[in-house]
Amino acid sequence: MNDISFDPRRIALEPDELAGRVIAITGPTSGIGRALALECARRGAEVLLLGRNVKKLEAVYDEIVALRRSDGSAVAEPLIAPLDLEKAVAGDYDAIATAIEKRWGRLDGLVHNAGLLGILSPIEHFDVPTWVKVMHVNVTAMFALTQVLLPALRASSDASVICTSSGVGRRGRAYWGAYSVSKFALEGFVQVLADELEKTSVRVNSVDPGRCRTPMRRQAYPSENPDTLPAPETIVDPFVALLGPRSRGVSGRAFSAQ
Ligand code: NAP
Repeated sequence: MNDISFDPRRIALEPDELAGRVIAITGPTSGIGRALALECARRGAEVLLLGRNVKKLEAVYDEIVALRRSDGSAVAEPLIAPLDLEKAVAGDYDAIATAIEKRWGRLDGLVHNAGLLGILSPIEHFDVPTWVKVMHVNVTAMFALTQVLLPALRASSDASVICTSSGVGRRGRAYWGAYSVSKFALEGFVQVLADELEKTSVRVNSVDPGRCRTPMRRQAYPSENPDTLPAPETIVDPFVALLGPRSRGVSGRAFSAQ
């Protein structure tokens, strides 16, 4: 049932909220994605780390295997899969679907978190190649990854797809150009896919993380004091709530993490 009163910020998470779930996260090497990958593992999920930089992926892998659950037990070992969303071709996406199929036979969560800011510039002067790159990474690659993983998501009895949005994807703002437009497209993607999957066990929602202390935020606001911003670790619980069993049936919605 699509409970319209559901708010992922109000869910008190259990230590084992994600026990037994298999969750893939793009962009787990930095900022929000890294914090979320660690939190998912801590709460019992097996995490698939999808990123473009193997060294950075291995560093997050090491952080995850060093974690302990709240009862002191070890967390599940994550899996690393290299994926550059700018350069990936069909075979790269297929390889990820095959790896998931082989290891788990299903996927319970998919978090589209990786994103590209590009440049801030008036539309009149916006660099066309940068526009194409941002739209490709933030929209087309997200679509392609979802498409190839839909059979694995459908194989789960309770699957959740989260697309990471932004305030400028819900209300346009001058100079945010391709980034803003790509997040509007992401919101549209969520609505279309949620409608198509209405009678299935796969839910699809967007989350605006809100302002957060990450490299992308620093790129957008170079003169801002980062100490005034919340750390990524403090804003990921609503993502976890949307990946866990309590959000079952909630789909096609646009949530905010703060
Ligand atoms: P971040 O720290 O800069 O992390 C961005 C992530 O995306 C990194 O893991 C990066 O990989 C990955 N990525 C970029 N291009 C990629 C590509 N071509 N292929 C694969 N991965 C790629 O940014 P963040 O702030 O955590 O952003 C996470 C999400 O939150 C984004 O979707 C962003 O739009 C959204 N968001 C953030 C804020 C905020 O205030 N921070 C506010 C609203 C929305 P590398 O580590 O290899 O570079």
